[in-house]
Amino acid sequence: MSSFINELERIIKVVSTLGSLPINIFHKIVFCSFAKAGLSLFNATDAQKAELESLIEAIPPVFRGLLKGELYLSALKFTRSINLLLWEAKKLIIPEEANIHFILDFLRKNVGKVGGVIVLDCASIPEMVTIAGKFAHTNRNVVIYSRIFANPIGVTRFLTEQLTHLGREPALKRYAQLLKEELEASFSIKKSLIDLVVHEHGVSVSDFLNSLNMQEIIEQINHFMKQSSILITSDHGYDLVANEHGLYITHGYKRKCPLNFSRIALFLVID
Ligand SMILES: [Zn+2]
Repeated sequence: MSSFINELERIIKVVSTLGSLPINIFHKIVFCSFAKAGLSLFNATDAQKAELESLIEAIPPVFRGLLKGELYLSALKFTRSINLLLWEAKKLIIPEEANIHFILDFLRKNVGKVGGVIVLDCASIPEMVTIAGKFAHTNRNVVIYSRIFANPIGVTRFLTEQLTHLGREPALKRYAQLLKEELEASFSIKKSLIDLVVHEHGVSVSDFLNSLNMQEIIEQINHFMKQSSILITSDHGYDLVANEHGLYITHGYKRKCPLNFSRIALFLVID
């Protein structure tokens, strides 16, 4: 369980040194290191690898060594341990991490009180690492918890349907509100920017990277950071799919793919 956390912490430490880069380049470096790791574990075709390489070519040469070296190796170890975790979770009918009661209990005991809660619909590992790295760069304390929310089907509904057992409306903003109450926060917000970009019809990796406005997300978080500690989480991440049409981003993908991150949501606290 804890091995993926070690790798993530290593990645965040490395990328925090890039914190002064424009956020879109920063995010692209993080995304491409995970994508490269995913493709090498997937036995990708030469055409699929070439598609990613052309995206990497657009990154300033001075950062490519880091992307293909240290970051890639850590992303590889991380992705391997997450794949193992997902494979093990599959054997259980309802893994603990997929149960909202269990998650709330864990957060109450381990996170305690926070100032605010931000739920980013569809925020995946590269976005959480980008946010963590960017705030670590400004000397904020960043903690990623060893517990994840496991979403076995990679869609919002899996989480929100559990809210009805708690007498709540099955909506993601209600989940944010529930976390706010449990962690005695003074506000909660839900943002759908990432999910909206992923749902644009047939989003290719290059369209995804070019249309996702990470700057807007960072500014929104920054606005609240002036107050106090913030818990940032999501309902699911997204998958990187490689097939005959090339590389694209979706969530809830049912077949084998290079990055199956729609099955996990991280809990990140910045204070
Ligand atoms: Zn969605």
